[in-house]
Amino acid sequence: MSPYVSELMAAVKAKNPAEPEFHQAVQEVAESLTAVLDQHPEFREAKILERMIEPERVIMFRVPWRDDAGTLQVNRGFRVQMNSAIGPYKGGLRFHPSVNLGILKFLAFEQVFKNALTTLPMGGGKGGADFDPKGRTDSEVMRFCQGFMCELSRHIGPDTDVPAGDIGVGAREIGFLFGMYKKLKNEFTGVMTGKGLTWGGSVIRPEATGYGAVYFASEMLKTRKEELKGKTCLVSGSGNVAQYTVQKLISMGAKPVTLSDSAGYIFDTAGITSEKLAFVMDLKNVRRGRISDYANKFTGSVYTPLDRKADHNPLWDHKAECAFPSATQNEINERDAANLLRNGVYVVSEGANMPSTIGAVNQFLDAKILFGPGKAANAGGVATSGLEMAQNSMRISWTREEVDNRLFNIMKTIHEVCHRTSEKYGTPGNYVNGANIAGFLKVANAMMDQGVV
Ligand code: NDP
Repeated sequence: MSPYVSELMAAVKAKNPAEPEFHQAVQEVAESLTAVLDQHPEFREAKILERMIEPERVIMFRVPWRDDAGTLQVNRGFRVQMNSAIGPYKGGLRFHPSVNLGILKFLAFEQVFKNALTTLPMGGGKGGADFDPKGRTDSEVMRFCQGFMCELSRHIGPDTDVPAGDIGVGAREIGFLFGMYKKLKNEFTGVMTGKGLTWGGSVIRPEATGYGAVYFASEMLKTRKEELKGKTCLVSGSGNVAQYTVQKLISMGAKPVTLSDSAGYIFDTAGITSEKLAFVMDLKNVRRGRISDYANKFTGSVYTPLDRKADHNPLWDHKAECAFPSATQNEINERDAANLLRNGVYVVSEGANMPSTIGAVNQFLDAKILFGPGKAANAGGVATSGLEMAQNSMRISWTREEVDNRLFNIMKTIHEVCHRTSEKYGTPGNYVNGANIAGFLKVANAMMDQGVV
């Protein structure tokens, strides 16, 4: 670690105690930027990175609501408005009991770079609540969303801050949130993305993050004149990102063999087919059941419960060529990374945000495998949100083919930019450096132009 990064990290830790995920995200970026900051003393002078790690605004609020039994519940809501140098704040809302300020700051910080890479004019933000939709009825989820939006509505708007979904916030929650915003403001605007198709949503938005992560993997493979067809793929999660990752992998002739949820994972040696995926989509999106049901339904597949005390996750310990972590942060630790490499994995495309620990990322980089960091590989979701905003502003809807083409081209461009930038700064093939440097330069230059604000 350079003396500058050590000093910066000491200050970040002192000023933001008990936010380990935020420290991790800042450290990864800061380490990538050493060469850029050496070449551009003006960025150091203007304290660009120091400004980028300080959110422009953090909103934290209480959300009281009544459950179906009439008992009063109190949750904590947040919106972190991280950086608006290149456009309105943009980033998802996460509803999960683990949500806290540090996690949302890490996600908002990553979002700034990711959004810059999409080439669309979007700043970075993230929000959510420590509310757990799991096990709640639709009416409880609706009351919570309405309470949450009563406060959030004061701080967002189509030209200010445009939230979307993330863990625990899918089509149902976006509907309830948008409905309350509309009632409070008496306005029908594109204030959220991920909307339903009949009320301002874009085709391909639900599919976009997963499809994008697969397109990114395919672009990485092209640099070695290879393709996804015939490759065995490990996928974690079974939510939005995982489902559409599997769908695109199947359509490209690859063989996905795993899926998981927070209780365990399934391994299907025969491969997850379109029919099996349809079962998973119904199970997770409609019946809201557990992935263990997959193994009850399909013979030949095996369910393994997650052992939280274990030092590794057996999902990452199967023979395969590709891995698509698509559940949550830090789901691949150093031991998991070693298992992946030992089992022959040489393509990792991160659908989730920061799913690999710093130690795991370093192993992938040292092994010189094709490693696509989340900032680049999962940018397809927010990019398509940007396309939804554009369609809302123009009051038109593009076709599936048009949006998918645009998504593909955006992912191709992100890949090219990361690849080119990693070469330019002396670390060819290191997409982590490529993504961090390219995203940073775009935002940093905008901040320089806009003065000290
Ligand atoms: P969903 O809520 O749809 O699915 C999340 C999946 O991950 C579920 O299967 C869930 O299991 C599992 N999961 C969540 N937390 C944990 C945990 N602590 N341990 C193990 N498994 C867990 O979320 P998304 O698919 O939307 O998001 C997945 C990841 O992708 C997140 O990191 C998110 O930030 C990132 N992402 C999402 C985008 C989007 O467009 N949705 C865009 C870019 C990134 P269970 O059902 O048991 O909770």
